[in-house]
Amino acid sequence: MLKAVKGDRPKNTAERLDFIRAEIRKAALGNARDPANVTLVAVSKTFPAEAILPALEAGHRVFGENRVQEAKAKWPALRARFPDLELHLIGPLQSNKAREAVELFDAIHTVDRPKIAMALAEEIARQGKRPRLFVEVNTGGEEQKAGVLPETVDAFIHACREQHRLAIEGLMCIPPFDEPPATHFALLQKIARRNGLSGLSMGMSADFQRAIAFGATHVRVGSAIFGTRD
Ligand SMILES: *Cc1c(COP(=O)(O)O)cnc(C)c1O
Repeated sequence: MLKAVKGDRPKNTAERLDFIRAEIRKAALGNARDPANVTLVAVSKTFPAEAILPALEAGHRVFGENRVQEAKAKWPALRARFPDLELHLIGPLQSNKAREAVELFDAIHTVDRPKIAMALAEEIARQGKRPRLFVEVNTGGEEQKAGVLPETVDAFIHACREQHRLAIEGLMCIPPFDEPPATHFALLQKIARRNGLSGLSMGMSADFQRAIAFGATHVRVGSAIFGTRD
């Protein structure tokens, strides 16, 4: 009944988290996948610590931020309270921020050029920390977008491994805003397979169920959990 459905709509962060978790589970099981193999990265960019706390208090531990400076301002204090949390960088990385990125983040989804690979390799060696690494692929070949082009990604992954000795876990993409995402998810899955990579960071609030159908291991969901951003 309409009224019941309306009453069931999640009204706070903890409820929205539960709802997204249930959707992830449904999508995984519907595609004969183990829900445990899909990590929900709760994207908290632009939201202050007060807005993130309810998610932490509800037991969620994996979060995504897209700016190093913003993460640096927000997360050390939260990490002191919740030492088991995991922070993922999902936004563009400048090589002069590699040091802070390796200090702050447990995973970096946006490795996309030799200069970054080199800077990360240097910091990983210096700090003795090993963030999990994903190569960002510009699956739509969009000029304004970050990421390695599909034509050159195999060579880039090879260079990351052989030249920079980086353990690459997987690939990440942000499909073009105005195209059905499925072809991009399929392309990312294909590139991952031929390069022997197990991780697939793809799918956001609007399309994470679809991404799970194409093998997503990390879905990055922001607004569906924290609400619309300014
Ligand atoms: C903001 C952002 C997300 C989350 O987007 P929503 O539509 O709010 O779920 C996911 N991935 C990246 C790279 C982002 O910058």
